Amino acid sequence: MGYVITVDGPAASGKSSLSRELSKKLNIPWVSTGAFYRGLAFAAIQRKIALTDKVALSELALSSIWKVEMTPEKTQVWFDGQDVTEKIAQEEVGNFASQVSHYPEVRSSLLDLQRNCAFKAEGLVAEGRDCGTVVFPQAEAKIYLTASSENRAQRRAQELGLDEKKLVVQQQKRDHQDSTRKTAPMQAPKDALVLDTTELNFNEVVTQVHKFVQQKIHKAI
Ligand code: C5P
Repeated sequence: MGYVITVDGPAASGKSSLSRELSKKLNIPWVSTGAFYRGLAFAAIQRKIALTDKVALSELALSSIWKVEMTPEKTQVWFDGQDVTEKIAQEEVGNFASQVSHYPEVRSSLLDLQRNCAFKAEGLVAEGRDCGTVVFPQAEAKIYLTASSENRAQRRAQELGLDEKKLVVQQQKRDHQDSTRKTAPMQAPKDALVLDTTELNFNEVVTQVHKFVQQKIHKAI
């Protein structure tokens, strides 16, 4: 396994943009682990599996009917031979993903698939909710991004062309679910660089994180 950088944090905190940029700078792949939960929730709906059926969901997690692929620009999800990356990006699918992610059985079925991403190159940037605490607890550098919920809703509303006020409520609900669940709740890893990006522009975030990552990686390699 190569070295790992984890980027965790709540919905729309800028994790994917930062991970993509770090991956370019360091010339290693990046993965959104949320794509696994979104992909599974999407596949369950297509297959008419109830989002509460944890046994069927855990089996579906290991099925080859769907898969996740890393590309430099985005984490792609395929279902039944079709690229469904845009479909799973919808906020509604994020909510479904949050529902299925609550089950320990589902989380453990997806764990190896996520960890395998680290075996494909000399390094990996992994983003999500529990990347630094559960998926890659041994990661060389851990980052936890936060931002005010208004700021995050504004970003996502612009990205998806949605109503900001509705999004604040939906995201707050999703963040609450993600941070209060018993298994692998969203939280800042103990040894993480915690960065509130509310008052920072993207370049400032990238510069600070890149500096932190370089120090950590130089120490580790
Ligand atoms: O990051 P993204 O919005 O794509 O994640 C969708 C949902 O997947 C989250 O709200 C969360 O419930 C779940 N998730 C998780 N653990 C991760 C990544 C995502 O539980 N590592």
